[in-house]
Amino acid sequence: MLRKTLVKSAAGGSEPDASAAQSALPGTVSTSGYQNGSIPISALRPIAGTDHYLAPTAAAMLERMMSDARMEGVSLGIVDGYRSFADQVALADAKGLYSEGGLAAKPGSSAHGWGLAVDLALNDDAQAWMTSNAHRYGFVNDVPREPWHWTYKADPK
Ligand SMILES: [Zn+2]
Repeated sequence: MLRKTLVKSAAGGSEPDASAAQSALPGTVSTSGYQNGSIPISALRPIAGTDHYLAPTAAAMLERMMSDARMEGVSLGIVDGYRSFADQVALADAKGLYSEGGLAAKPGSSAHGWGLAVDLALNDDAQAWMTSNAHRYGFVNDVPREPWHWTYKADPK
């Protein structure tokens, strides 16, 4: 399951790959200076082939991950990406707050509101592929009870 095309662009190991790609992205705009859920679409980037948006680097890395997965016969479906504050309020109403047993973050605190989280439609093969490979692209499944929720966290610590 090792991705040869990825490894070749990294100086060493899988971890530096995401950050190396980050600085190599052309025309990257920044979402800094905006508040959670209040990022203008112009500061985001559409996820190719969908009507969803993410922060530019996260979108680019997601597209690369989707493309590499596809070459291995794995399909990563996009359910949701960036979520405005109003969308977060609506979701909290519909699904309940995570802290109270529901599935929605407190409005204004969701990683979706930063354009850094994506919800995916994954069959068993795709879920296993993500578990093995997503970290190479900077994505981690960081919310228990939500195997579909992947957050882009490539920034070096
Ligand atoms: Zn999510």
